[in-house]
Amino acid sequence: MTEVVGVLALQGDVREHLAALRAAGAEARPVRRPEELDGLDGIVLPGGESTTMDKLMRTFGVRDPLRERLAEGLPAFGSCAGMILLADRVLDVAPGQETLGGIDMTVRRNAFGRQVESFEEDLKVEGVQGEPVRAVFIRAPWVEAVGDEVEVLARVEGGPADGRIVAVRQGRLLATSFHPEITGDGRIHAAFLDLVREARGA
Ligand code: GLN
Repeated sequence: MTEVVGVLALQGDVREHLAALRAAGAEARPVRRPEELDGLDGIVLPGGESTTMDKLMRTFGVRDPLRERLAEGLPAFGSCAGMILLADRVLDVAPGQETLGGIDMTVRRNAFGRQVESFEEDLKVEGVQGEPVRAVFIRAPWVEAVGDEVEVLARVEGGPADGRIVAVRQGRLLATSFHPEITGDGRIHAAFLDLVREARGA
């Protein structure tokens, strides 16, 4: 049976994620309300502004139910602000900002600084075969520290941010600092769908 994957649709690149998931073979649905979490095999948390997404999740009453589903093992992929939402610890948070958590990592918001606010780079991502991945960073976070359970999948190569971690996985949770939904390269979404399938078969 086709996997059903939600995209948190409060803000950000919702359409692009839905399209990428469909192209990878999933049935993809936007999720705003708690009841829309029912029947999901996985969820994507898109980029946007993590502070705004935190507020909107509370407004729509979806934050606590989503947190629960993640704690129960719902697979999730967070890109950019979505990565921040999956982090157990965040540096440079806005006052009152909270995350959903799940990945034992410390993430720094807007980490790349003003000069390199947005940039693109070809990255080697662990588990993604073939050509390097074209990674687009937009006021992106990076991962400052990870716990033992976290697998580092990609680091920046060269430049002032050389060596910074920008893609990780912990169990069924995947996170990237960059936006794979806007390049038309479906390999990261396909890798996430593999996690979703694995979790279903488990
Ligand atoms: N800077 C944003 C934040 O802190 C993330 C940017 C993005 O998702 N493109 O949430």
